[in-house]
Amino acid sequence: MSIARVSIPAPIYPYDKLYDYRIPPELLDLVKPGSLVEVQFGRRNTWALVFEVLESTEVPLEKLKFISSLKLDRPIFNREQLLFLKGLSEYYFYPLGEVCETAIPSAIREGSAKTLNYEKYLEGDFDPPIKNIHSENAPLLNPAQKKALEAFNESTQNRLFLLFGITGSGKTEVYLKMIEATLKAGKSALVLVPEIALTPQLTNRFSHRFPGEVAVFHSGLKKTQTRKSWMDVFTGQRHIALGARSALFAPLKNLGCIIVDEEHDSSYKQDERLKYHARDAAIKLANLFGAKLVLGSATPSAESLALVRNNEAQCLKLPERAVPLSKLPLVHLVDMKKSLSEKSFLIGESVPEQKLHDDFNASIEGDFYLSPPLREKIQTALNQKKQCILFLNRRGVAANEICRKCGHINNCPDCDVKLTPHFKELLCHYCGFKTRTPEVCSECGEKDHPFIRMGVGTEAIEAAIHFHFPAAKVLRLDRDTASESESLVGILNEFREGKADVLVGTQMVAKGHDFPQVTLVGILSADMGLGVPDFRSFEKNAQLLLQVAGRAGRADDPGEVILQTFQPEHPVFDLIKNNSGIEGYEEFISNEIAKREALQYPPTSRLALIRLEGFELDWVKKSAQIVGQGLSKIAQKTHQITVLGPTPSPLAKLRSKYRYQFLIKSTDEKTLHKTLAWILNGWETQRLEKEHNTRLIVDIDPVSMM
Ligand SMILES: [Zn+2]
Ligand SMILES: [Zn+2]
Repeated sequence: MSIARVSIPAPIYPYDKLYDYRIPPELLDLVKPGSLVEVQFGRRNTWALVFEVLESTEVPLEKLKFISSLKLDRPIFNREQLLFLKGLSEYYFYPLGEVCETAIPSAIREGSAKTLNYEKYLEGDFDPPIKNIHSENAPLLNPAQKKALEAFNESTQNRLFLLFGITGSGKTEVYLKMIEATLKAGKSALVLVPEIALTPQLTNRFSHRFPGEVAVFHSGLKKTQTRKSWMDVFTGQRHIALGARSALFAPLKNLGCIIVDEEHDSSYKQDERLKYHARDAAIKLANLFGAKLVLGSATPSAESLALVRNNEAQCLKLPERAVPLSKLPLVHLVDMKKSLSEKSFLIGESVPEQKLHDDFNASIEGDFYLSPPLREKIQTALNQKKQCILFLNRRGVAANEICRKCGHINNCPDCDVKLTPHFKELLCHYCGFKTRTPEVCSECGEKDHPFIRMGVGTEAIEAAIHFHFPAAKVLRLDRDTASESESLVGILNEFREGKADVLVGTQMVAKGHDFPQVTLVGILSADMGLGVPDFRSFEKNAQLLLQVAGRAGRADDPGEVILQTFQPEHPVFDLIKNNSGIEGYEEFISNEIAKREALQYPPTSRLALIRLEGFELDWVKKSAQIVGQGLSKIAQKTHQITVLGPTPSPLAKLRSKYRYQFLIKSTDEKTLHKTLAWILNGWETQRLEKEHNTRLIVDIDPVSMM
């Protein structure tokens, strides 16, 4: 066994191409499938992952280079994990070596044998037994939780569950018990959460229950922290990997159970480079290991409910809140049209007349979004020393700036996107471009403060709260105040400890937070997001609103939700207003699935997106034409695919690149894959990327259509 077949981290086509290297005599016993090595590739030295070890190869030995070094003398991945990486490369049309690059943290792949020396790193044994489990003070399970746990424990291997529990129903406690059972059976566990920085509380709960067993993974960690987490799992010191989607690649052995918390969350989909969906990938990984898989959510995705419907997953339901006296909050709808016509938003306030017309005054803009009923409820909560969350899914002061003379809107110079006004500047939320409000309108030349601000953002709401409730302490949670994970944790802790009365924020406030003192949730503009050109927009909106509403009344005090909308008759709001729990949500998603089935959209059909992007519009258009011709040929032959496009992407220009796209629908996954493989092959073999200065990007099971 003297030849190693390795994947190289480079954009290589065909994507599964491996390269042969000779194993030097001193490493013959050590290099195995899964070994991390260093090789010379072309003129550079690079890390590489060994996939196969062979006796011989058709290439004459003297033409082969030797492996330069071995980084760790045990393989980092086992057979199942190597198959997993290959499967991802194949399914997502992405070079295998670059899949490996996603899978192995840079702290490991760029380390040398010396820095990674785990004999030194390791103070105890390799693969020590599982440590104590700290379950003495664990809360007792209610009957529904018990039933869910029993189903998990009684199931054989390789079983898929959907843990469908309303907000506050105690899913985490069930996860902890499932993991306890897994560890007691001598196996390891993987827990995925959408954005781990947003849920520091969850990490604490896991670490407390399983002291010394939890290794945390996410992109916000420093290199040394990542290396420690990874080495802890690799050497078997810790048996639970907890993290965002990248934790999927933790080098766990003997994986017994995978938990995907908040499985509906769209941040499980990586939207750049390897465009994998961590939930779908987790299903593949569980299959390879024969592990049990639990998808958990209060608002499951249509995809997961479809798995239940097809008997591919078993549904475990938690229909009640875990805290005995806690109930789902009472929901009041406020019709903003009425609020607008009656100007009743000014009740009880003596706002000077000129302030009303001064659109630059953010507190007035924000003012409108505090309807009289909402203000009343905020006042009541403040009087009772309770906390409120106000949710608005837009950061900044306003939606955009418009010239009051000619209607010109300030756009980002590099993207086909409006600039969002913030207090001090105008900001592109896509590329980060910053500028100040121009003094003169570039379109009509108006010089006298031409720009007025329209719409509202979280900064304006914060200002409005300061204006109306000067005694209230306000915190704001959005990408501006919490760009770093430390500042984020700081804000969450401050609010939980009761150091503030009101938390204003974007969808970051909707994540699984547990704030027992929150009795009021205000959803300021529930319509936002309904008009998005996306077949999932109703589903996403319903999930977001139910999740935000679910932050209210999680302890003994009853919770209330004020939902402000211009379309109170919209079916999405019935779902929230009626508090119809699990059955109501199931019915809502059933209707969604039926609608999508008729239009050939997931989960009943499969979807892929092909995007062409480049700096020159003409080339992008021409490339789109070529790809379009290929696609229509296939569509005529098979009749099993439907092609939409080419059309300019909804974001037609991003970071100076023009974008055109196709959506390809098929009820047959294989046909869809064959189609894409054929298109890609033509593209790659004719080297059209170089020739046309245009990139072709494939996104399988896309989540964002923008
Ligand atoms: Zn103008
Ligand atoms: Zn931009």
